[in-house]
Amino acid sequence: PFVEAMEIEDNPGFTFKDVGGLQNQIREIYEVVGLPIVKPELFKSLGIDPPKGVLLYGPPGTGKTLLARSLAGEVKATFIRVVASQFVNKFIGEGARIVREVFKLAREKKPTIIFIDELDAIGSRRIEMGTSGDREVQRTMLQLLAEIDGFDPLDSVKIIAATNRIDLLDPALLRPGRFDRIIEVPLPDKGARLEILKIHTKNMKLKDVNLDYIAQITEGLSGAELKAITTEAGFFAIREKADYVYQDHFIKAVEKVKKRLEEKKQILG
Ligand code: ATP
Repeated sequence: PFVEAMEIEDNPGFTFKDVGGLQNQIREIYEVVGLPIVKPELFKSLGIDPPKGVLLYGPPGTGKTLLARSLAGEVKATFIRVVASQFVNKFIGEGARIVREVFKLAREKKPTIIFIDELDAIGSRRIEMGTSGDREVQRTMLQLLAEIDGFDPLDSVKIIAATNRIDLLDPALLRPGRFDRIIEVPLPDKGARLEILKIHTKNMKLKDVNLDYIAQITEGLSGAELKAITTEAGFFAIREKADYVYQDHFIKAVEKVKKRLEEKKQILG
């Protein structure tokens, strides 16, 4: 069953060109995860142990997965993605085994970047170990720590984890030799929003569209939401049987996506 628990891409077709904004994050993640894969001799000759793991944190939809996947594309590494919350919800009782299998596969297919999404689902600090479910989560987390501690930092297997709730994480995960680099991935500012809009309209036929203005009126939205706006704009054009996507389609799309977010907020309280 463990094959279902992970996504494997032997050669992810993404590069840093697919990432809007996040220049500093790109530079840092390349330096600490990419460079040791591409130029291990640099680290060996200087006697430096590169970090084994990096933790990305920030709001949903800001490009954490995209950043990890495009790094794998840049350094031609295998990309393995697992979603930690599935260990708790979907693969109950299998968590520790899946972790073991993931690392085994990673070693076979190296260089490999293992991406663990929603790390907080297994890596939260727990006050009580009441239920058997909690113990199972604990076992999964201990297996993860054992795997991380067990491999050589120069082994070209790297872990990138992501969370929206860094405040919940067990400090044991952040100890030296584990996830000892922490990179914030924030919501995009105006310049980054413009870049993200440009990336996602690259193949669209636009006419008289002022993306700069769209970037201006989308303060507080994530990259995933900006992408949704470009898709919605396309649908407005299709409904009107237009030959191009116009500014008006984008304006309507912004309203629609903002309204949807508003409704979601109401439901979630
Ligand atoms: P979550 O915390 O919900 O897992 P995430 O931070 O991992 O979210 P992604 O899954 O990387 O976010 O983003 C979803 C999609 O939104 C991406 O595949 C991409 O199409 C778009 N997107 C998000 N951020 C960016 C960005 N900075 N540049 C370009 N596209 C982006």
